[in-house]
Amino acid sequence: MDHACKASINGEHVLGKIEEWIHQVNASHESVRQSCSAFQREFEGFYSLAFLDTAFFVVTDNIPKPDFPELRAAGLGDFIDMDVDGITYNNTYYVRRGSAQSLRLHFHELVHVAQWRELGVPGFITRYIQEIQQFQYNGAPLEIMAYSLDGHYQAGGQSLNIEQFVQRNL
Ligand SMILES: [Zn+2]
Repeated sequence: MDHACKASINGEHVLGKIEEWIHQVNASHESVRQSCSAFQREFEGFYSLAFLDTAFFVVTDNIPKPDFPELRAAGLGDFIDMDVDGITYNNTYYVRRGSAQSLRLHFHELVHVAQWRELGVPGFITRYIQEIQQFQYNGAPLEIMAYSLDGHYQAGGQSLNIEQFVQRNL
């Protein structure tokens, strides 16, 4: 075992492990996931159909989280244990059954899909973990961007190309 890799969350070992876990979680939910094109009308002016066509959501009672000792050792324990209504892994997000009707939640998670797409899988994972370590969940810039945009949508804000906004503001 390489101790340098164990110590650093950015080590290839941990990063690869998280990537593999995400791949498996998404693959194992492929048969039950739903296409976000279902929100074409609701999110018109914000997300393109081309974008929604390649994003998916899963309604579940158990939001999957990567509970690795390496992540807890890196200070991510609170995040792993946090009760959340939704979480995004690459092109697929998971929403708690009781919150599945919340358009605002879907809008929020789709901002993360756009962020994953722009940063790439290892890029998003690395940056998100660094932000949680540095700012906690509530202060993480990737979260602040998503909450700010879902708030804009919820308030009936004017049309805004979210994919483009994310590209320009990451
Ligand atoms: Zn979020």
